Amino acid sequence: MSAVREDAPVLGRTGAGSYPYTAEDDRDFARQALADAIIYRAMAAAEPCPACAVHRALLCVAHAAELDWVSAYRAMLAAML
Ligand SMILES: [Zn+2]
Repeated sequence: MSAVREDAPVLGRTGAGSYPYTAEDDRDFARQALADAIIYRAMAAAEPCPACAVHRALLCVAHAAELDWVSAYRAMLAAML
């Protein structure tokens, strides 16, 4: 899965001198950042791990924490939709 999107943020648009320009731009930006963070954390959680392999829950503390971040970011994103 790729975090790269074709609709990259447009910097230097006419009007205001700095990004973001509107509250909706700001929300779009935050939503994209959360979506990117979800992908990043999910990929980290899915990495092969010797500690996970021997853990009784098949998930070590570090990788369980990665999934907790995914859950937290998903809840935040859902609240913004
Ligand atoms: Zn692990």
